[in-house]
Amino acid sequence: TGQPQRGAAVITGGASGIGRATAVAFAEAGIDTVIGYHTADPHDPRETVDAVLAAGGRCLAVEADVAGHEGPEGLAQAAVDTYGRLDIAVAAAGILRRAPLAELSDGAWDDMLGVDLTGVMRTFRSAVARMTGPGALLAVSSIAGGVYGWGEHAHYAAAKAGVLGLVRSLAVELAPRGIRANSVIPGLIETPQSLDARNSLGPEGLRAAGAGIPAGRVGRPEEVAAAIRFLCAPDASYITGQQLVVDGGLTVR
Ligand code: NAD
Repeated sequence: TGQPQRGAAVITGGASGIGRATAVAFAEAGIDTVIGYHTADPHDPRETVDAVLAAGGRCLAVEADVAGHEGPEGLAQAAVDTYGRLDIAVAAAGILRRAPLAELSDGAWDDMLGVDLTGVMRTFRSAVARMTGPGALLAVSSIAGGVYGWGEHAHYAAAKAGVLGLVRSLAVELAPRGIRANSVIPGLIETPQSLDARNSLGPEGLRAAGAGIPAGRVGRPEEVAAAIRFLCAPDASYITGQQLVVDGGLTVR
């Protein structure tokens, strides 16, 4: 009970892909957003802001590198300063790198864990510190960290598996405050990350993989955003500590 009908959300990685689609989905649900972007991001965060405005919502873009403490702190504070409240935090920022074990340096490992795992914790810690009522936390994991072995991506898989444990623990710890925590586990989704052939499947690889998915295609960012919106909404008021796989049937084949 008592989940926010309207409210304010922070979304990391909001300048592209699943994060951007989530900002638009939240606008349609009447939720104001502050999106975090990364300076190294090739995508213009104004595109997200414009898409949210077109959907009738409010959106502010803030530079927020989740590899450090200051980015998530500034992001969460911006929500309070701008909207006077913070109810929802979506951790969608992430990097994807291909690295066979023999080439997996300590530095590459640390960078991956620093963004894809520690970055999620920082995002939630900064947000929860500013939540004054019920709320929702949502982490974007991956089938690679949940239910599917993906070779040459051990550091990514380890980070994404870590996220699931992080969320389960926070679900229990924060339930007395009315703060829920859940994860989505996307399969293959067409975004800049998966279209990058150096680290993921690339355009042709995605097309080929799509044919082998029961749904017959890869997913769209909006299809993950719809699951995120549900898990953060009052409709999911009794759902916490859970993982929702959004993969077109890939892992139940
Ligand atoms: P994307 O590359 O469009 O989005 C990732 C975003 O994270 C980018 O905007 C990027 O700038 C941002 N980012 C990277 N490093 C950052 C940092 N240090 N600080 C702040 N932001 C940073 O790709 P996407 O597919 O939308 O990825 C969103 C999430 O979904 C990621 O966590 C990704 O691992 C996860 N995911 C994607 C797929 C897929 O098939 N696309 C599958 C499973 C999980």
